[in-house]
Amino acid sequence: MATYRLAQVPAQGERITYSNGTLTVPAQPIIPFIEGDGTGPDIWRAAVRVLDAAVEKAYGGERKIHWMKIFAGEEAFEKHGEWLPEETVEAMREFRVSIKGPLTTPVGAGIRSLNVTLRQVLDLYACIRPVRYFEGVGSPMKEPQKLNVVIFRENTEDVYAGIEWKAGSPEANELREHIQTKYGKQFRENSAIGIKPMSAFGSKRLVAMAIKYAMERNLPSVTLVHKGNIMKFTEGAFRDWGYEIAKEQFGDSVVLESDLGKAGGTARADGVVVKDRIADAMFQQLLLRPDEYSVIATPNLNGDYISDAAAAQVGGLGMAPGANVGDGYANFEATHGTAPKYANLNKINPGSVILSGVMMFEYMGWKEPASMIVAALERAITAKRVTYDLARQMPGSTEVSTSEFADAVIAQLER
Ligand code: NAP
Repeated sequence: MATYRLAQVPAQGERITYSNGTLTVPAQPIIPFIEGDGTGPDIWRAAVRVLDAAVEKAYGGERKIHWMKIFAGEEAFEKHGEWLPEETVEAMREFRVSIKGPLTTPVGAGIRSLNVTLRQVLDLYACIRPVRYFEGVGSPMKEPQKLNVVIFRENTEDVYAGIEWKAGSPEANELREHIQTKYGKQFRENSAIGIKPMSAFGSKRLVAMAIKYAMERNLPSVTLVHKGNIMKFTEGAFRDWGYEIAKEQFGDSVVLESDLGKAGGTARADGVVVKDRIADAMFQQLLLRPDEYSVIATPNLNGDYISDAAAAQVGGLGMAPGANVGDGYANFEATHGTAPKYANLNKINPGSVILSGVMMFEYMGWKEPASMIVAALERAITAKRVTYDLARQMPGSTEVSTSEFADAVIAQLER
């Protein structure tokens, strides 16, 4: 058990435990949270009220979350002089399930992404992002309800591994020299260099988690999205490793699209259909034929892009939740960033964090508050009292603040 200098372990509540692949959740678990930077505190304050109200309504006091505030980002730096105190990582490890707001990452210089660091240090290798349409939300698409996908983005490898050197640095120059003399590959002097590591281990475990998810929920397909036509040994291998693990681990429970006997076949075979698409083609597929896709498994960078693009199709990032999941550890967070221009204005949509909480409840096996919140959100949107992002796309709606939207969802909670 770690000792905490900055955070306080709640006096009541118990730890979530994990053994032999099974998570055991006590009736009153301790769950650490990071408020986040920018708009993080606004949306966290609103979301936590909804999560608590749903648990209370579902279980009448028998179950309850004991929240433990932990520190990262600007607040941690201002108060404690560290961006990511070691004890924060320790708390996420000790208590296993945690939730966080977005954290700022400066572009081009400064600190490394705290988000990427957390995912790597805790080996939260799958970033899971469901994207679905909520009835009544305005969308740039004619038929937004046709998009209903769950994106599994590999979270620890690829160009996000953080192995890169500045243009003109001694390391970059030395590497260029080495690559030129040893391997005969030419590229411009004073180039910046980034490395794109991708392994069979990292790719296979991600794809396996995606296929398992599809099987457990009886979903029709898993699509491997890659750019293997150009990056043959990284993204191309991702595809090959994906098919390999599908056959090795799932055997007759999956069917390869190529075995279905018709190109682009969407016919439901006996098992989950595993197929692949090249990333650029996939972006237009999601716009033109979204209903042909269900679960998507993809390397890190592709997954980052596809998640935001898919969220835009169903009305924007305001309702886009996410989870970073490893073996026995999970951290839940919205897909979007800190949206700093709206910080402290009580303006943006807390739906992204509320739905991340729904994913957390599902992960914990707390199905009742999860489905109650989704139904309440649907009713709140139908009542057309929504935050600015939805209001600007919904004619006849009334714009409400972050906290008022949370109130509206709470008012709609029904057992
Ligand atoms: P962003 O924070 O995702 O915001 C981009 C735009 O998306 C906002 O200006 C807003 O659009 C819309 N948006 C985002 N969240 C919304 C919400 N809850 N409700 C309604 N609209 C929402 O992207 P960014 O401005 O490029 O990034 C800001 C910082 O966040 C950067 O430092 C970045 O590194 C960091 N970041 C962190 C994470 C993370 O913690 N996991 C993830 C991504 C980015 P409108 O302007 O149209 O209103």
